[in-house]
Amino acid sequence: MPSAEAPIRLGIVGVGKIVRDQHLPAIARNKDYALVAAASRNATVDGVANFATIEEMLAADVEIDAVSLCQPPQVRHQAARAALEAGKHVFLEKPPGATVSEVEDLKALATAKGVSLFASWHSRYAPAVEAARAFLASTRIRSVAIDWKEDVRRWHPNQDWIWRAGGFGVFDPGINALSIATHILPPMFVVSCALDFPDNRDAPIAARIDFLTSTGQPVAAVFDWRQTGPQTWDITAETDAGRMLLSAGGAKLAIDSRVVHDEPEQEYPMLYRRFAEIVRAGKSDADLAPLQHVADAFMLGKRNVVEAFFD
Ligand code: NAP
Repeated sequence: MPSAEAPIRLGIVGVGKIVRDQHLPAIARNKDYALVAAASRNATVDGVANFATIEEMLAADVEIDAVSLCQPPQVRHQAARAALEAGKHVFLEKPPGATVSEVEDLKALATAKGVSLFASWHSRYAPAVEAARAFLASTRIRSVAIDWKEDVRRWHPNQDWIWRAGGFGVFDPGINALSIATHILPPMFVVSCALDFPDNRDAPIAARIDFLTSTGQPVAAVFDWRQTGPQTWDITAETDAGRMLLSAGGAKLAIDSRVVHDEPEQEYPMLYRRFAEIVRAGKSDADLAPLQHVADAFMLGKRNVVEAFFD
């Protein structure tokens, strides 16, 4: 484990959109890290040692304490296992894997190796999420609606992996909503689900999922990737203390239309702060509740075939 003062020497894997948009700026501004290496088949990062694969990176003569794995979920388990076997701490982009049991396998391996595993859920770090959690804990929830509707052409252009089996389809954004819901609501479980699969794709473009909380309140989620124009990332709760609207993906909170929290987001800087904290404390942080709900939705989901989707 790096000492409390020494920066964590980090390798980053799968240099695509999220690495460029969020990981590299967040790492550059955090003194807890020194980015020393990158592994990507078709991309490089300036100023560090570059490799085509994580295996080459781990075998090379570069001192690395930790890796951030930012490839699509279908190929993350193999890379995570290689890193854990080599004694590295592992930061997993969301979703942490393609199945629940493969991430359980990683949790067990991290424990056996005495290194930290971080299943990062960036939306849990959205600015108004903790305020929403505190509000809901102070009242009685009657019902909840989750509406996560966005334009797949705008946010995921030319991402073929997302439409393949294990790519999650509309659950790629939907799991962000579930990562917030599982943090601010009582425990819940899926009771019914309908999934819309485009005729030419192996992953759904829309999903309607009904949950019940352990105390019997309904939670109705609608995920849809066909929304053009304004985008919707809202969680609405009817409560004894009024209507709570957590909107803009967790950035803004209103109670009975009165805005009580609205701040710029800092999700990735906070994720990297949390990762350094668990590495230095010798702990893991790998909650699989959002992934379990996605698995259950696929398990119970009625499959509808809808119009083919073309980029
Ligand atoms: P992306 O732009 O497609 O980048 C992923 C990179 O992984 C690719 O550029 C590719 O780089 C590498 N890769 C390795 N094996 C691959 C394979 N079999 N198929 C495709 N790419 C492979 O995707 P992204 O948007 O950055 O998303 C990556 C992860 O971050 C996903 O789990 C996603 O849910 C999460 N995330 C994305 C966003 C976002 O706004 N885009 C936000 C939050 C989280 P090489 O070809 O160079 O190897």
